[in-house]
Amino acid sequence: MKLAVLSDVHGNLAALVAVLADVRGREVGEKVFLGDAVGYGPEPDEVTALLGRECGAFVAGNHDWAVLGLTDIGYFNPVARAAIEWTGRRISPGTREALRACPLKKVLRKHDMLLVHSTPREPERWDYLFSALDAALVFPDFEQRICMVGHSHVPFVAELRADGSACAHRDGTGLREGSRYVINAGSVGQPRDGEPRAAYALFEDDAVRIVRVPYDIGSTQRKMAEAGLPEPLIERLGRGM
Ligand code: ZN
Repeated sequence: MKLAVLSDVHGNLAALVAVLADVRGREVGEKVFLGDAVGYGPEPDEVTALLGRECGAFVAGNHDWAVLGLTDIGYFNPVARAAIEWTGRRISPGTREALRACPLKKVLRKHDMLLVHSTPREPERWDYLFSALDAALVFPDFEQRICMVGHSHVPFVAELRADGSACAHRDGTGLREGSRYVINAGSVGQPRDGEPRAAYALFEDDAVRIVRVPYDIGSTQRKMAEAGLPEPLIERLGRGM
């Protein structure tokens, strides 16, 4: 399997372009996306269009649904809500149409893999898996060997072995016969694990790992400031929190 799994780009085009270049450099042709193309960042139309061209599968995230009015934004914090409202005013009809066409879940049969933004059961509740400990509880909720998630912007690899034991890997692991996995791909456009470089999950040579890619954070921050997006969202990109 040679596959790149991207998640949570959130309108950050510079981060997405850097990740796609990194993927291309590794000669990985197949790319999929786990949702949240928009929200927070300054270039939602450009990001949605590029993801649509590059990714063979594309599921919807809570921010994608929020700009379409498909989910209640009452639980969003005030700065996230301000960014959703900005995004909703700015995006093109084509972007709306592209986001509306995305399912909440997608199965990649050839990889025995489920793609979902939040959790495999009731994804529209938008519950979070912050750690491998959280993930250990959801193995009964899907049938495939691997479930890929995003949403928390914190990457991890959770493994359930054939003997019933579970373990966590921070940056990746070899894929073992008989094991099942829940893997959080982290966030391309707004990492929150204290590491500001863009993150994605890479499968190759019977292993999975979380790859970090530097990008021009300052250029995204300047575009956000020009757009009038909330200061805390601009500042957090530099801290990766
Ligand atoms: Zn997100």
